[in-house]
Amino acid sequence: MADTAKNSGHDQGQGRGQGGRPRLATVWLGGCSGCHMSFLDLDEWLFDLAELFDVVYSPIADIKTFPAGVDVALVEGAVANTDNLDLARDVRARSAVVVSFGDCAVTGNVTAMRNPLGDPAAILRRVYVERVDRDPQVPGGAVPALLPQVLPLHQVIDVDVFMPGCPPPAERIKEALVGLLAGTLTRATTRSTKATLARGASIRFG
Ligand code: SF4
Repeated sequence: MADTAKNSGHDQGQGRGQGGRPRLATVWLGGCSGCHMSFLDLDEWLFDLAELFDVVYSPIADIKTFPAGVDVALVEGAVANTDNLDLARDVRARSAVVVSFGDCAVTGNVTAMRNPLGDPAAILRRVYVERVDRDPQVPGGAVPALLPQVLPLHQVIDVDVFMPGCPPPAERIKEALVGLLAGTLTRATTRSTKATLARGASIRFG
């Protein structure tokens, strides 16, 4: 599947944001946004987060383009369409540490439930062309094309840290971010950080 081949190239640019804080991004691919709702469940710790990280990209901020020089990117959702694919590749190219954030990113989970139905092109044709009385057409234009199969993030790009959960509880998100902060936030050191995260009491699947 040449189109969806892993992209492990990195063009991370300058890291570190205002005041030398690491730059954090959160990304919403093919998911229900429940992982981001859990992120918001960090409640008052979000004020601490704003002191620890420079949040440079997120669906909860009105920033259109994924920036260069990101230190940590939390990526919610599976890769389901061409927009997801392009953004995932940009995230990988511009981020030092990519975190698969939640079960849809880690395994495909709910988003991948369409996979047993096969290539959605046949379903779209049946619904929008063969079964309509007028103006038959498959939606296109601004609507990104669906991929033949929904893919977990690590099948498209290299992933450094896996954070399971549907959604991951807020405490797990906090533990992961604090653990990553305790490292030097580079790909080379993430493996030791992973070991730290794996020992955390709140790191569980499900
Ligand atoms: Fe939603 Fe669960 Fe998927 Fe997160 S892992 S995007 S909460 S379905």
